[in-house]
Amino acid sequence: MADGTAAPAKLPLVDRFGRQVTYLRLSVTDRCDLRCAYCMSEKMTFLPKAELLSLEELEQVAASFVKRGVRKIRITGGEPLVRKDILHLFERLGLLLGNGLDELTLTTNGTLLDKFAQPLAAAGVRRVNISLDSLDPVRFREITRLGDLEQVLRGIDAARDAGLKVKLNTVVLKHQNLNDIPDMIAWAHAEGMDLTLIEVMPLGETGEDRIDQYEPLSTVRHMLDAHWTLTDEPRTDHQGGPSRYMRVTETGGRVGFIAPLTNNFCAGCNRVRVTCTGRIYMCLGQDDHVDLRAALRTSDDPGAALDAALDRALRAKPEKHEFEIRTRGEAPALPRHMSMTGG
Ligand code: SAM
Ligand code: SF4
Repeated sequence: MADGTAAPAKLPLVDRFGRQVTYLRLSVTDRCDLRCAYCMSEKMTFLPKAELLSLEELEQVAASFVKRGVRKIRITGGEPLVRKDILHLFERLGLLLGNGLDELTLTTNGTLLDKFAQPLAAAGVRRVNISLDSLDPVRFREITRLGDLEQVLRGIDAARDAGLKVKLNTVVLKHQNLNDIPDMIAWAHAEGMDLTLIEVMPLGETGEDRIDQYEPLSTVRHMLDAHWTLTDEPRTDHQGGPSRYMRVTETGGRVGFIAPLTNNFCAGCNRVRVTCTGRIYMCLGQDDHVDLRAALRTSDDPGAALDAALDRALRAKPEKHEFEIRTRGEAPALPRHMSMTGG
């Protein structure tokens, strides 16, 4: 400040239930080069470009969260690596590392990692979550509708060659990959990667009935107990996420469980999500949101408008999600696709 005193620190983002938001998931596009059957419909229509935040706006949003105490940013989508010039955003956000930000990471389907892994590592990314729902090329194609397993496996190799730590995410699908899960875990652990299992969430129309996809992770837990010895990993204070980790004695690796329908993990929630159109969703499982794009595009002082919007969002962060798998033929509880909010 002009008189030499330091500018007052901005207030951290603490909600009505005393939870501090330290983790931002930022979706940079709703587009994707795959059409996973649990995520989007085969004939998905995507948003016009003007609706999306520009790369500069995305950077501005991210920086305003970091000023308010966010220490970890995960870039997601849609498929984040299909967004034009996305590396530029990673490079810009990489400059915040050590300046308020502890970690910059991404979730990707891995199809473009053979091209992007090295430059992402150079921008400061150290870890990456890669989605992989089958190791069988035919089933992989069936689930993703467009995917080539070999290309994703090449992406995983490229990420590891670039020094990135890889964690795999696998959505458990009742009729498609349920019985393959133990083999997938054995493979991941033999390759030195943890694998997190995800319960299908009822987000958006996909052209398929959720009842035909949903399998509670408790079933998988029973399957794994028949193969291996699993022990609970202690939760660390900063975790605040939905994953519960178990160590598999025989393989030495870890399995994560994200089971929003069978377990409610909201009490320690430390995150919010911003869509590629600039809406803050305070909870993946609720529809309340605050529009940051309007704050950015219409205010004379976008920094102050963003701050005020963040405060509004925090006041509205709900206590817990309201997911449920409805009966056959009913519309999904939330019309929004996962690819809008980012997983
Ligand atoms: N395209 C990237 C990918 O697939 O990793 C990032 C975005 S994707 C929406 C993020 C994560 O959400 C993926 O792990 C995906 O499997 C998961 N996902 C998508 N739709 C889901 C749903 N309806 N229920 C549970 N997980 C879902
Ligand atoms: Fe694309 Fe990821 Fe959704 Fe699959 S889960 S369709 S890769 S956004």
